[in-house]
Amino acid sequence: MSLNELRSECLNCKNCKLCETRTNVVFGTGNPDSKILFIGEGPGENEDLQGLPFVGRGGMLLDKMLSVVDLSREKNIYIANMVKCRPPKNRDPEESEVAACRPWLEKQIEIIDPKIIVCLGRVSAIRFIDPNFKVTKEHGQFIEKDGRLVMGTFHPAAILRNPNQKPAAMDDFFALQAKIEELCPETYAK
Ligand code: SF4
Repeated sequence: MSLNELRSECLNCKNCKLCETRTNVVFGTGNPDSKILFIGEGPGENEDLQGLPFVGRGGMLLDKMLSVVDLSREKNIYIANMVKCRPPKNRDPEESEVAACRPWLEKQIEIIDPKIIVCLGRVSAIRFIDPNFKVTKEHGQFIEKDGRLVMGTFHPAAILRNPNQKPAAMDDFFALQAKIEELCPETYAK
């Protein structure tokens, strides 16, 4: 199955109650041949309206930080979320919603087959790395999981709330850049 076929199926999903309040399913965006996958939490208001992940102020910050290490969703990465529909009032997704949506993400991972996964924020890090993951303490550390490297870092919205975290987050992006050059330098091929 291709990513486009999976997207078409996902756009009709009604597997949890978030389908009742969404405007759009936010499936994901980027280069499907990328070896780098970023996983956020869930769509916010702007993402729900546009059907695209990370398009508000947080998304603009993310794009800016990515560009410093020569990464972009138009070129060499893919971005998805733990849940594809917006939780009302931007609350955290419930366990049952994450569980209902997980098969879509698992299938995305299977098709894209990334070498490196970056968890943006606690909600994805506690499910992909460690249930007790503490972003402020363990960000930027790569661990091996199912044959891939996984790293957790700050969510852009958290950096907007607390700009003091930006230098540490940027260091994580530089560490990511070094790991890409080591493991999948084709990411930077012109
Ligand atoms: S959040 Fe996921 S499981 Fe729930 S309706 Fe949306 S796509 Fe389906």
